[in-house]
Amino acid sequence: MESIGVLMTCPMNAYLEQELDKRFKLFRFWHFPQEHTFLSEHSATIRAVVGNASIGANANLIDALPSLEIVSSFSVGLDKVDLAKCKDKGIRVTNTPGVLTEDVADLAIGLMIALLRRLCESDRYVRGGLWKKKGNFKSTTKFSGKSVGIIGLGRIGLAIAKRAEAFGCPISYYSRSPKATSNYYKYYPTVVDLASNCEILVVACALTEETRHIINREVIDALGPEGVVINIGRGPHIDEAELVSALVEGRLGGAGLDVFENEPEVPDQLFELENVVLTPHVGSGTNETRKAMTDLVIGNLEAHFLNKPLLSPVV
Ligand code: NAP
Repeated sequence: MESIGVLMTCPMNAYLEQELDKRFKLFRFWHFPQEHTFLSEHSATIRAVVGNASIGANANLIDALPSLEIVSSFSVGLDKVDLAKCKDKGIRVTNTPGVLTEDVADLAIGLMIALLRRLCESDRYVRGGLWKKKGNFKSTTKFSGKSVGIIGLGRIGLAIAKRAEAFGCPISYYSRSPKATSNYYKYYPTVVDLASNCEILVVACALTEETRHIINREVIDALGPEGVVINIGRGPHIDEAELVSALVEGRLGGAGLDVFENEPEVPDQLFELENVVLTPHVGSGTNETRKAMTDLVIGNLEAHFLNKPLLSPVV
């Protein structure tokens, strides 16, 4: 397989690079600033693309690679892959479902607790010497028992629900249809209904044209000044300008955000607020999970090129 050209779209993980390098003729796209020159020289040899949540395979890239057979994404979300184009052209697509579920759900719970108990702010309080100077830290907000509403009760949504349940949180959810297996979680048929009936609203659905800005002004108003939003989905799920103005004006209680509309850009106004916790898209970012994701990406590529069944096919 050493002669098979594999294009990695951007830096992702050293172990993934090393394992791809061992098996294939690996091209690191970011090492070639002149994309056109690179593509005119190498496009015919590239039979696989490895993308991620930042840079996947859009229509232009797919059209520029006439020998492309498979896109293997180092992510579960496929919003950066033109799935319709892949289907049209008979290009196979794989992702990394399941192996990252626990980490992302753990982070969602971490963001909830960090936000309500003001963990980051109180850490800064100690480090900044304010404990000695000003005395005890202010009291914060209890997490256990808060009602949690989840948008998208898929693998990650369900894992968040199970964790929150252990904290005594009543769970409700919105998705396109009620889940037969989740009778004990309350289903709301609209996001506004869900937001009106929970204190912590979590975004855990896939990003599609339908779910872009699924958190808009109406939803934020329904959640209200005591409510908080947690986003471990994708940045464009939230109308970020509306979120920022609601936080600045006190119309929303707070936000825990792992993802942003124009990553790695984050609105400056958020840096001034103590009722937000910000993480740099690290939902699946543990050594254990990144290794499991790598193994799945490699396993899918090997299966494809050895004419075996794919491990996690999407298209
Ligand atoms: P999944 O099992 O496929 O779940 C996705 C859920 O999205 C499904 O339950 C689906 O429910 C829901 N959904 C799709 N379209 C919807 C719509 N129009 N309205 C409401 N709900 C909709 O995927 P997963 O493994 O849980 O991953 C979910 C997402 O998490 C990924 O797509 C990715 O964007 C994000 N993610 C983020 C990180 C991070 O680092 N922050 C890491 C991994 C994943 P219905 O079909 O019932 O509508």
